[in-house]
Amino acid sequence: MHDRIDHSIAMAVRSKKKLAIMFLDLNRFKAVNDRLGHDMGDKLLKQVSDRLTSMLRETDTVCRNGGDEFIILMECISHNEELIKLTKHMINELSRLFLIDKQEVNIGVSIGIAIYPDNGTSHTELIKNADTAMYQAKEANTTGYQFYANNMSTEMMERLEIEAQLHSALENKEFYLVYQPKVDLHSRQTIGFEALLRWQNPKFGFVSPATFIPVLERSGLINEVGLWTIHEVVEQIKNNCFKELMISINLSPLQFRNPHFFEEIKAELKNNQISPSQIEFEVTESLMMDNFESSKEKLQQLHHLDCSIALDDFGTGYSSLSYLTQLPIDVLKVDRSFITNIDQYPQQQAMLESILFMTKKLQVTTIIEGVETDEELNEIKQLGGSIIQGYYFSKPLKDNEISNWLKI
Ligand code: C2E
Ligand code: MG
Ligand code: MG
Repeated sequence: MHDRIDHSIAMAVRSKKKLAIMFLDLNRFKAVNDRLGHDMGDKLLKQVSDRLTSMLRETDTVCRNGGDEFIILMECISHNEELIKLTKHMINELSRLFLIDKQEVNIGVSIGIAIYPDNGTSHTELIKNADTAMYQAKEANTTGYQFYANNMSTEMMERLEIEAQLHSALENKEFYLVYQPKVDLHSRQTIGFEALLRWQNPKFGFVSPATFIPVLERSGLINEVGLWTIHEVVEQIKNNCFKELMISINLSPLQFRNPHFFEEIKAELKNNQISPSQIEFEVTESLMMDNFESSKEKLQQLHHLDCSIALDDFGTGYSSLSYLTQLPIDVLKVDRSFITNIDQYPQQQAMLESILFMTKKLQVTTIIEGVETDEELNEIKQLGGSIIQGYYFSKPLKDNEISNWLKI
């Protein structure tokens, strides 16, 4: 590949044409290897290669870079639209089900793109920049592809700065929690709260959890901060801040990799004589992508303690229905993206109605997140929803606002 890129660069210099390097990284490939074995992983890689080569022109080159990474060299690019069209086509093709020895496998791909000469003039530089762009595509988790931009390196620097600040944030007491009520729309009673982490830093000011939580995860600090969060909730419960109501705490998949995870949580609850039934843990299905069996076991341990388990962000990712029967899930949280303007989308309504029907049969509680408007609320009410967490009732509250809220 390096040789072909160098050769193409030499040609492009003469013809004054552009060329594109695409860096592809499969999503969830590790889960396939873990769950189905390396033989199946190998077969999957071959099928991916077949799909890729069938989409490209004779003059393009595709190579496997190692693991689940592929690099594609595309020569003679005249405009970006053509490239975007092809990239989207690739993403669609690789998102289609794969059938491997009668097993259905669903993966997906993230693609980063660097262009010669705009984003580099050597194979090293182009591949490195396409890789950086791929990384951003994966993080953004939206379209699945990203062109390299010169400010990405600056963003990288900023991320390192954030990480440096986060290292001392616990010690400097820069974290605090806010609590968003979950409300029964019929009785208007609050049935519990979700604890949400906030970070106020002297240098960066208020930073959104969407920005700093991934940094906590990458740096491993999430374990320490996650434990602090549990400790803080336990303290507030001891102060009788929430009466008897249940408080839910978000857990990151990374915390499940910590071998002491369960013991630490158990000790925290036991030492403080908190009833585990007052605590709920929210997890996302990305947890299951990581290592299904071990994650399942840890969830069961928490469940045996008598903590409740909620599946968060349902409707955004893979949304596998089988999790509801295979795992000890008490609560399903339907994501906001599914609810926004639901009154205008009959298909979303049909889906929500079916989800509500199914969860009722399975005796799983459904919480509808992100309800903001009267129209959304009325629609949800008609469809049979009853528990709401959203700005319609309340934004997340500071701890000193809770007693007032509960008096209403
Ligand atoms: P999440 O767990 O799905 O939390 C719900 C998010 O939706 C919260 O954002 C909440 O403020 C927001 N939200 C609720 N109702 C509405 C609404 O009506 N409209 C709009 N626009 N937004 C609404 P927040 O606090 O920014 O948290 C974002 C995400 O960060 C959370 O999503 C969760 O995944 C993560 N997160 C927050 N705190 C923690 C934590 O302590 N630990 C971990 N691991 N993740 C956390
Ligand atoms: Mg949550
Ligand atoms: Mg959620």
